[in-house]
Amino acid sequence: MPTPRIRRPRYTTTLTDAARFGYPQRRVRLSEYGVARGWGVRPVAGLLRFKLRKTTDEIDSVLTHLVRDVGRWVPFYRDLFRNAGIDVARFRGARDLATLPRSSKDAFQESPERDCLRQGRDPRRCARTSTSGSTGAPLTLYLSHPELYFRRYSVLTGLRHYTPLRFPVRVADVGSMVPHGGRSAEQSLGIVHLLRIPGNMPLAEQRAALLRHRPTILQGYPTCLELLAESLSESEARQVRPLLVACRGEQLRQGTRDLLKQTFRTHIASLYNCEEVGNLAWECPDRADRFHVNRDTCVLEVLDSHGSTADGQGDVFVTNLYNRTMPFLRYRLDDRARLVGPAERTCSCGAAGPWLEDLSGGEDDFVSFPDGRRMSPLLLSNALFDGFRAPGDPHRLSPSVRRYQIIQEEDYSLRVILDWRGPFDAVVWRQIASEMNRASQGLRCTVERSAAFELTAAGKFKEVLSRAPVGAAQRF
Ligand SMILES: [Zn+2]
Repeated sequence: MPTPRIRRPRYTTTLTDAARFGYPQRRVRLSEYGVARGWGVRPVAGLLRFKLRKTTDEIDSVLTHLVRDVGRWVPFYRDLFRNAGIDVARFRGARDLATLPRSSKDAFQESPERDCLRQGRDPRRCARTSTSGSTGAPLTLYLSHPELYFRRYSVLTGLRHYTPLRFPVRVADVGSMVPHGGRSAEQSLGIVHLLRIPGNMPLAEQRAALLRHRPTILQGYPTCLELLAESLSESEARQVRPLLVACRGEQLRQGTRDLLKQTFRTHIASLYNCEEVGNLAWECPDRADRFHVNRDTCVLEVLDSHGSTADGQGDVFVTNLYNRTMPFLRYRLDDRARLVGPAERTCSCGAAGPWLEDLSGGEDDFVSFPDGRRMSPLLLSNALFDGFRAPGDPHRLSPSVRRYQIIQEEDYSLRVILDWRGPFDAVVWRQIASEMNRASQGLRCTVERSAAFELTAAGKFKEVLSRAPVGAAQRF
């Protein structure tokens, strides 16, 4: 008896703008986009989310599709909308966003993980990442592989606001400590020659790696770039002449910007990124302190404490335009800013739409050593997040810890305070102690369970608070 032919799902590798650069490399099932008509691909709203340079009408179309989709398929939002009496069929785009309830990381942490994901998505087959140490609260994030590629691609193309990119591009990324298994898609495609320089590597080794790689783009955490730049001699700095230094993950202080400019003699740019979206906004090439919203990836709102549009500085909320796997709608970020200008306004640099000013996040302190050395606060935070990884599944964070604080006492010792929830997990606890002991580079480090966080003399909360006499490193 002949074996029946099994009809295989159809695939394509030429779906979006991103695909022109070879993305996605994986074969992508068309059914993921809700389109499979004949052999062709129809650019419906489900695909529009991956388009670059979206128009206002296209953003409305993507939002309308997104809201209807999550209201039907994502239990977290289905319940949220039902409790708020929202009829998603009446939603018509950005002007209706204010009618939707807001969401927060706390709400995501409180909900079962499967309720935050689109029904039918298998979390084990999704791409996973997690909020980084700069966010203060751990959360595992899920994306489909095309969503992950789009996110990476949009971050990469964002650099074109400052300098023309000729592929393959050589990038050195300074500071990241998150372990990366294998090469990223960009590397495997040969688009990017990426070198990661961990911030906890001895500075002499960081210098040697940088001089060997000679990147076109130098990027990373400002506090790590500052320490590396400080350690370079003039002749070494002359050998590294990147076209651009792109700072991310922390607020770029003027002193750090001046030092980087003086050392590398090139344009210094600041990018406003978060793990939940990728690039949220990019610094205006003409004016520092002005950030243009990345309209390809998100819609940003700035709201006051009552949830209305803020007149001045308010809390930043984001709606992710492309993630249908774990959607973020009107999701609160831990940052404050002012939204300036009507949507029709155009900046002197040519960017359209409103922009952010007075952008500020929390402020963390450098960690100091008795011999005068300093360490970026993000290195400790990221090490702590490595300790949070679920045993046996390093791409997922254990839900055991709600929030944390790291305190450096006057005697240089470190104290890690964990707001623990749920049953005690001895394995995760040991991981945390081990990662922190390794990251603290000889400083005594203890871990404790408590929700009694400490404030500065001015009453502010810092995730990394040092009582040693060093300068502050601002973060966002
Ligand atoms: Zn501009």
